[in-house]
Amino acid sequence: MKVCIVGGRVAGSLAAINLGEKNADVVVFEEHRDSGFPVSCAGLISEDCYKKLKDLGVNAKQNEIKGAFFFSPSGKYVEAIGKSRGVVVERKLMDPQLLRRASKVAEVRMGSKVVRVKSKEVTFIVNGKEKKESFDLLIGADGVNSVVAKNLDFKRPKIFLAVQILSEFEAIDDKFVELYFGRKYSDGFFAYAVPVEKGLARIGVVSKTNPKEYLQRLINEHPSVSERVGKGILELNVGAIPIGLVDFVRENAALIGDSAGMVKPYTGGGIYYTLIAAELLGETFPNLKAFEKAYKKRLWKEYHFGEKIRRLYETLRDEDYEELVRIASDLSFEDLHMDKPSSILKFLVKNPKILKVVRFFFP
Ligand SMILES: Cc1cc2nc3c(=O)[nH]c(=O)nc-3n(C[C@H](O)[C@H](O)[C@H](O)COP(=O)(O)OP(=O)(O)OC[C@H]3O[C@@H](n4cnc5c(N)ncnc54)[C@H](O)[C@@H]3O)c2cc1C
Repeated sequence: MKVCIVGGRVAGSLAAINLGEKNADVVVFEEHRDSGFPVSCAGLISEDCYKKLKDLGVNAKQNEIKGAFFFSPSGKYVEAIGKSRGVVVERKLMDPQLLRRASKVAEVRMGSKVVRVKSKEVTFIVNGKEKKESFDLLIGADGVNSVVAKNLDFKRPKIFLAVQILSEFEAIDDKFVELYFGRKYSDGFFAYAVPVEKGLARIGVVSKTNPKEYLQRLINEHPSVSERVGKGILELNVGAIPIGLVDFVRENAALIGDSAGMVKPYTGGGIYYTLIAAELLGETFPNLKAFEKAYKKRLWKEYHFGEKIRRLYETLRDEDYEELVRIASDLSFEDLHMDKPSSILKFLVKNPKILKVVRFFFP
């Protein structure tokens, strides 16, 4: 069975590996001439997720993360060490490594831009020439602006915007990510610093409207960040984060990764959910309906709770964040798992004081 995968980054490579191993005849189209550039990612994943990627040949670890510091708008913070540890990866290394693994079981065509898909026919441009080819299955792993999704009339997820820099940064602890909350630093999401190594971090903001403005404010005015960030910007990335899983299967076509909104709604992290999707795509191949069913069954609870948490970023006021950090300073976070937002239920049941402040959680 001939399968076309549009997009050769995380989603495309993982899909190709899992389908290729099922002996599908896979062709990956990637418009760029290399994978892993431009990079828009903080590179934070769980240790479990990294282990699975390592089994696929990824060797891109930059840092190990023990926990997080949650900051209130006034700069107070609380330490949270949950069930899961984190790993910071370098996407510029990881993406080409995954594509290389994919190329063992699939035909990878770099510099090939798909311009149109229609039923089974794919039109693409390579070396300035337009060509057509037919496939039995189409997989749209082509990111938030997916041409597969647009041409085949898939519903689109909501889009949040992100800006991220790489900068000198004096982290409170290099083994902890820092999360900054408050209306001044994002509308509807949060800002973050992910330490890459001692003295260096990826600092970013996810926002509904204008992340650049929020990032400038974070760097110049945040009572804690502004004291610790370096003056120079070593890298600048802009990106989009799809929020909300859409129906991602239609006849002989499926979406995977950002194109489908396979992203944790409360963090914007997409690698883990995409990895799960690619595994299920392989397990259910060639039945795309079974793929959709299996993925939704596996993760519906996590999307549900993830979306509830994300909505809190829109409803909580600055004084609520101050109160939460104050109350949380003597609580244990050991039940929380970074890949499982549903783990918040147990945490809230054990900590009714928190439940009282996040009253919008169960309106
Ligand atoms: C600022 C920022 C920080 C993030 N931090 C994290 C994090 O810490 N942890 C985490 O898990 N996730 C994070 N994410 C999310 C994560 O980066 C994405 O979920 C993931 O990269 C999506 O991978 P993808 O392969 O689905 O899409 P993409 O990475 O967008 O890849 C799509 C590929 O398709 C190709 N393509 C597109 N159109 C065509 C076409 N017509 N023809 C041929 N090729 C085409 C593109 O060139 C590209 O290579 C972050 C995102 C942003 C923006």
